[in-house]
Amino acid sequence: MTSFNPEEIQKRLSLPADLRLPVSVVDKLNRTPTLDQPLTRKNRRASLSEIGFGKLETYEKLDKLGEGTYATVFRGRSILTNKFVALKEIRLEQKEGAPCTAIREVSLLRNLRHANVVTLHDIIHTDRLLTLVFEYVDRDLKQYMDTCNNSMNMNNIRLFLFQLLRGLSYCHQRRVLHRDLKPQNLLITAKGELKLADFGLARAKSVPTKTYSNEVVT
Ligand code: AMP
Repeated sequence: MTSFNPEEIQKRLSLPADLRLPVSVVDKLNRTPTLDQPLTRKNRRASLSEIGFGKLETYEKLDKLGEGTYATVFRGRSILTNKFVALKEIRLEQKEGAPCTAIREVSLLRNLRHANVVTLHDIIHTDRLLTLVFEYVDRDLKQYMDTCNNSMNMNNIRLFLFQLLRGLSYCHQRRVLHRDLKPQNLLITAKGELKLADFGLARAKSVPTKTYSNEVVT
């Protein structure tokens, strides 16, 4: 059986650069036959599960950050990276299962990777909860505007607008319409980066349809 070092495993599984694999996990992965075989989606999923992805115990839940249309968002910490994450908890109804907003958000965001779109790191599915694990961003634009008494510096407005349009352009090139742009859904990092978030009302324009619901915002 081939033995892989941590860097080779990181590359092979396309893991984020800030994730440091503990020696015990590297050893365990090297003993699983799937790592040795051609990398199929099933193999990759099995190896990610060995590392701790898809498991609630990988994340420590901290304080509440906000309430969305269909979920509650908490600050958390990843045991894998020791960094903050945002845990978006969606309660699953016994009969109805996952709400369509959650299914939309997951299916669209899984395929979007851009500096101006919030990154979805992990998905955890239990009987009662669906938890989406996102990169943690310091605040949203509404909170930012509140701190500057609604009079924002013109240069910052330009920078935010530019990033908003760049993120949207990326989504539109991939035929994804956000449809719910508002300050609460635009996250701002401490460095002033803007990231589009909450794709619960978004949809793929590539799905052929004659009608689009008008119950959307933007
Ligand atoms: P949402 O359900 O996505 O609209 O999120 C509700 C609120 O939670 C937002 O208005 C933010 O204040 C907060 N929030 C959402 N995602 C994140 C994140 N990735 N990092 C930090 N806060 C977030």
